[in-house]
Amino acid sequence: MTAAMTNPAPLVDQFKRHITYLRLSVTDRCDLRCAYCMPERMTFLPRKDVLSLEELHKMALGFIARGITKIRLTGGEPLVRRDMLELVRALGRKIGDGLEELTMTTNATRLSEFADDLAQAGIRRINVSLDTLDRDTFSQLARRDSLPQVLEGLKAAKEAGIAVKLNTVALKGINEAEIPDLVGWAHGQGFDATLIEVMPLGDVEEDRFDHYLPLSAVRDRLEERWDLRESDHRTGGPARYVDIAQTGGRLGFITPLTNNFCDGCNRIRVTATGRLYACLGGDEQVDLRAAMRSADPDDALNAALDQAMRIKPERHHFAIDKPGGAPALSRHMSMTGG
Ligand code: SAM
Ligand code: SF4
Repeated sequence: MTAAMTNPAPLVDQFKRHITYLRLSVTDRCDLRCAYCMPERMTFLPRKDVLSLEELHKMALGFIARGITKIRLTGGEPLVRRDMLELVRALGRKIGDGLEELTMTTNATRLSEFADDLAQAGIRRINVSLDTLDRDTFSQLARRDSLPQVLEGLKAAKEAGIAVKLNTVALKGINEAEIPDLVGWAHGQGFDATLIEVMPLGDVEEDRFDHYLPLSAVRDRLEERWDLRESDHRTGGPARYVDIAQTGGRLGFITPLTNNFCDGCNRIRVTATGRLYACLGGDEQVDLRAAMRSADPDDALNAALDQAMRIKPERHHFAIDKPGGAPALSRHMSMTGG
């Protein structure tokens, strides 16, 4: 029996939020080492613990059967996983058959190689993380000199007809002064842009408080240059948007620390080892790998998803309120994806 036949109930949590959006991390590995995300000597998961292509595919189908209509593939860096394209193609075949949208978040270092194939498999939009257009700053921040490849990747995505949204983490004293130029550049390229406050996930080598930059300060700086008008645009995600008259573009703000965005949450996250986190900012979790490897995977997966709906918290527990504070959560963003 298929998962759909045994339990087609939609995913609704105890706060009556309908969960329709899955962010699926396909690897915790990455070819960059962004300083706010992971240490230089990051310990990655043993490969045997990571879900196989077949398991990821089967699990995703189980989610779609329960009403997930949007899947974002993330990581780590999804494009460093060798069989990634196979998974994208397999899930792409579900678009229009339960799945409304398949997207990806990538650092774009390998995008020039994959953009055409991703577009052909049905990916229409991607998020690309880019914090600076300055090569030296990029090298320092990502600890790799990869800005040229990223820019090539962006060009290839554009040529392949994939809509791009740039995600930029705002960092005090690092890209702070450059943000208006970066937003202007993104809009000039026809890309949307979103700014993100740094979040306290996992130990890195420095104190995040040193670089924490509230987006209210960034907004003030942007308003010196442009007119920002509140926009009704919503993606079901945490971003709040403004339209910028002068650039003709849209800019999102994700402010987990100065603003709570949990009321309308429609999402859950699964790590590359099949651990479902009910909230990016909480520790509530369910082991889907055990379910997938049990005697009756369909029933076990459905039971695990029901359990996830029971434990999804009302709101996240982030705070960067004092210098030297321990991370709110010990896991890194590269585990659960952004
Ligand atoms: N490697 C891909 C990339 O960078 O786009 C996908 C995974 S990455 C973990 C997803 C997003 O998380 C990126 O936009 C990155 O900037 C963001 N991110 C990582 N660590 C973060 C942190 N501590 N606070 C805020 N955003 C973070
Ligand atoms: Fe890699 Fe993305 Fe983390 Fe940067 S933010 S280290 S690109 S996973």
